[in-house]
Amino acid sequence: MSALKCDECGVGRYRLINSPFLMKLGRQMLVMPDAPAYYCDVCGYRAFDEDFLASMHYLIRQAVDDSQRRKRPPASLGWAHIDLTGRRP
Ligand SMILES: [Zn+2]
Repeated sequence: MSALKCDECGVGRYRLINSPFLMKLGRQMLVMPDAPAYYCDVCGYRAFDEDFLASMHYLIRQAVDDSQRRKRPPASLGWAHIDLTGRRP
């Protein structure tokens, strides 16, 4: 079923392979040893699966948001809690 024609040479066909995926995140390096990728059997052109890249970007954004949320002091939450429960009719 891998009848996708290569965009680079127009002759070869993409084959689904597992390829190491590297991404630099600030001072750290993210490594995925078996990332899904397409590999042309004629010219050797390699491209990562778009769904895989999209999910990677989503996960990274989630991780960044999560670490930023944890850095905030819990004082603001405490005040909101007091304000809400302190109100009585
Ligand atoms: Zn090719």
